[in-house]
Amino acid sequence: MTPTQSFEAVVVGGGLGGMTAALALRQRGLRVTVLEQAPVFGEIGAGIQTAPNASRVLLRLGLRRRLEAIHTEPQDQVRRRWKDGSVIGLTPLGDTVKRRYNAPYWHYHRADLHRVLLDACVDPAGAGPVVRLHTGSRVVALDLADAERPAAVTEDGRRVAGDLLIGADGIRSRVRDLMGLEDTLEFSGEMAFRALVPGDLIAADPATRFLVDRFQSTIWYGPDRHLVHYVIRRGEFLNVVGCVPCTDEVAERWTATATASDLVEAYAGWDDRVAAMLSKAKDDVLCSALHYRRRDPLWVDGRVALLGDACHAMLPYQAQGASQAMEDAAVLAEELGRVTLDGVDLALRRYADRRAAHAGRVQEASLQNKTFYHYPDGPLQEARDETLRRGFDGESDLSYDWLWSGTPLKDPDHGAYAYAFAR
Ligand SMILES: Cc1cc2nc3c(=O)[nH]c(=O)nc-3n(C[C@H](O)[C@H](O)[C@H](O)COP(=O)(O)OP(=O)(O)OC[C@H]3O[C@@H](n4cnc5c(N)ncnc54)[C@H](O)[C@@H]3O)c2cc1C
Repeated sequence: MTPTQSFEAVVVGGGLGGMTAALALRQRGLRVTVLEQAPVFGEIGAGIQTAPNASRVLLRLGLRRRLEAIHTEPQDQVRRRWKDGSVIGLTPLGDTVKRRYNAPYWHYHRADLHRVLLDACVDPAGAGPVVRLHTGSRVVALDLADAERPAAVTEDGRRVAGDLLIGADGIRSRVRDLMGLEDTLEFSGEMAFRALVPGDLIAADPATRFLVDRFQSTIWYGPDRHLVHYVIRRGEFLNVVGCVPCTDEVAERWTATATASDLVEAYAGWDDRVAAMLSKAKDDVLCSALHYRRRDPLWVDGRVALLGDACHAMLPYQAQGASQAMEDAAVLAEELGRVTLDGVDLALRRYADRRAAHAGRVQEASLQNKTFYHYPDGPLQEARDETLRRGFDGESDLSYDWLWSGTPLKDPDHGAYAYAFAR
C-alpha cells in the first residue's frame, strides 16, 4: 500500500477503534493526531475476540507477525446448557474458519492487542507519517468556526485542528454530543462481570481441566443470564464474562468491582463445574452496566465523523463491538485514501453510507441475542436448543457468513493482506 495523502486527521479517543483508525489512516499517508483523555494509553484487564471480519482488517494493516505473537486460537465455538453443561451446539473455528474466510477467529488479552496497535502507530519503520499520540487530553469542545479545519479543544485549553476530525471516544461520546446528534443511548437492564481466572488453577482442578485442554469459545445459556469464557495468552488466563440482571448499585454507578463469591452466587444452581471455575477468580472482578445505542444512520457532519461505540455501541452478545469499529477504520481509510483535500467531505459521507446500515444490523442482532440466550426453560428454550443441535449458521437473523465476511472492501490489494492460509 503506497501512502498518497498529506492531509491531517484528529482522532478523539485512543481505544481499540481510535487506534485502528489512526494506524489505517497513517498507512494512507494522513498525518494523524490522537487525543486520549486517560493519563496513559491502554485497555482493561480482560479478553477480546476478533472474528474473521475484524481479523482480516488487522491483517491487512500488516500486523500478522505481531498478532501471531499474542493470539490464542479457539478450535470451536461451543454452546452449553446451564443445568448440566450438556453441549447443545458446536461450530468449528480454527482452520475451518481460516479456509472459509481467509482470516482467523482469534482471542487476545485486550492490553496486548491495544499495545500491538499502539506500537504500529509509532513504529518509525511503518508506512506513512508516525502517529502523534497525546494522553491527558480530554476533549471538551469542538471549534467549527472554520468548517474546513475542525478543531478539538481540550480541558486544559489546547486547540488541535485538522482537515477532519474523528470522534472515536466511546459509548458516552462527547464529540457526538457536541455534534448535536440525537441521544440514542439505552440501558439494557443487564450488567457484565469480567474476570481473568489464572489458567494454572483451572488446569490443576480435575473438574475444570477440560476448559484448557482444548481451546474453545464457550457460551452457557440459562434463564435470564448467560456465561462466556475462553482462554487467552495460550493458557495463562481463562477470560470469563458473565451477563446477568443488573443490580441497582451498578445501574447507578455504571461500573463497580465484585468478588469471586459474587460471581459464584450469580450462577447458583448451575452445573457444578461453573462454580468450580468461577470460584478460582481473584476478588477484582470488573462489573459494568450494559448500555447500547439505538441504530442511528447519522455519523457525519461536514468534516466531523464518528467511529466505533460513539456511533454504534451494541450489547456484547455477538462479540462484535470493537470488530465493527475495526471495519469502520478500514472503510474510512479506503475512502480518505482515494481523495484529495477537496474530496474529504464526500469521502466521509461515503464512509458512513458504506458502514452505518451494516453496523446497524449488527447492533440489532446483538440485541436479539439478549432474548435468544436467556429463555427460561420451556418450549422456546427447547426449540432454540433443537435448532442449535441441528446445526446453524448464526444465532440471530444474521448469518455468520454475512457477519464474518464483513463489509465488502474495495481495495484492489485485498488478497495480498488477507490471511493466506496454507498447509
Ligand atoms: C463484556 C464485554 C465484552 C466484549 N467483548 C468483545 C469482543 O469479544 N469482541 C469485540 O469486537 N467487541 C467486544 N466488546 C465491545 C468492545 O469492547 C467495544 O465495542 C470497543 O471497545 C469500543 O471501542 P471504541 O474505541 O469505539 O471505544 P472505547 O474502547 O470506549 O474507547 C474510547 C476511548 O476514548 C477515550 N475518551 C472518551 N472520551 C474522551 C474525550 N472527551 N476526550 C478524549 N478521549 C476520550 C476513552 O478514554 C477511551 O480510551 C465487548 C464489550 C463488553 C462490555
